[in-house]
Amino acid sequence: MHDTELIRFQGIGSGIIDSHAHLAKEFFAEDQKSVIENMKAVNVTQIINPGIELKTIPELIELADNNDSIYVGIGLHPHQANEWDEFSAKTIENYINHPKVVAIGECGLDFYYNNSPKKEQIFALKEQLKLARQYNKPVIIHCRDAWTELFEILAENSEPIRGVLHCFTGNIDVINRLKQLGKHVDFYISFSGILTFPKAQDIQAAAKIVDDNRLLVETDCPFLAPLPVRGKRNEPAYVWYTAEKLAELRKQPLVTIAALCTTNAQKLFGLTD
Ligand SMILES: [Zn+2]
Ligand SMILES: [Zn+2]
Repeated sequence: MHDTELIRFQGIGSGIIDSHAHLAKEFFAEDQKSVIENMKAVNVTQIINPGIELKTIPELIELADNNDSIYVGIGLHPHQANEWDEFSAKTIENYINHPKVVAIGECGLDFYYNNSPKKEQIFALKEQLKLARQYNKPVIIHCRDAWTELFEILAENSEPIRGVLHCFTGNIDVINRLKQLGKHVDFYISFSGILTFPKAQDIQAAAKIVDDNRLLVETDCPFLAPLPVRGKRNEPAYVWYTAEKLAELRKQPLVTIAALCTTNAQKLFGLTD
C-alpha cells in the first residue's frame, strides 16, 4: 500500500462502496491493477465506474467482467452532450441488459462549464432519463449550476425515476427542493472529496441534513482528491477520507457512515455482496 495513512481504515466494519469512480485506462493507464489492489487492501468493497462517452462502454464492461467488485454506468456526460445522435439510444440499449451494467450515466447538466450548448445538454439528459425509466435503471446525474433546470425536467414526468446526484455541489436549499419534488423522484446524494475542502461550507451544511437512507460517498477519481491527499491523482481507496469527514460533520461513527453508504449503494444499484 503506497499511503500508509490509509492503514487506519482497514478494519472499519465491513468496508465501504465508492459510488462513483472513473477507473478507465484513460486515467489509469500504467497502474490500473495496483489501484484496484490498493482499494481492496483498505476494504473499499465495490465501485461504480460510470461512462463519460459511449465509445468507452466496451472497455468499462471488460474491466467489470474481470473484477467482481466493479460495476458500470453507461451514459453520455453533459460536457459531451453535443455528441448525442440518432444512434446513441440504440448504443446504450445494446449494453443495458449486461449483468454488470447497473445504471444510466453519468448524464446531466453542467451550466458552469457549458462545454456543450445548454439545449443539447437538456436533450441528451431527457433521452437518457427516458431510457432509465424504460429499463428501470437508476440514473447517475451530474449537475452543476443547473438545479432549477434539472428539477423542472425531473418534475415534468410523473413516472417514477430513481438515481443519485453525484459529486453534490448544492446546498441545504437544493436538498429541500429535491424533497419537494415528490415520491416519484427517488434520489440519493453522493458526496465527493470537495466535502473536505475548507471553502465547501454550503456543501458541508447540506451533508448534515441528508437523511441516513439517502447518503452515498464517492471519489469521482481521478479528480477531486480529498484532504489530506488533495492535489494528488484520486483513487477509490481515498473514499475513506471523505467518509471520515461525513462522519465528523454528522456526528456519527465512521463505521455507521460506512455501513449506511454501503447499504444505500447496494439498494440503489441492485448490487449483491
Ligand atoms: Zn460528474
Ligand atoms: Zn464522474
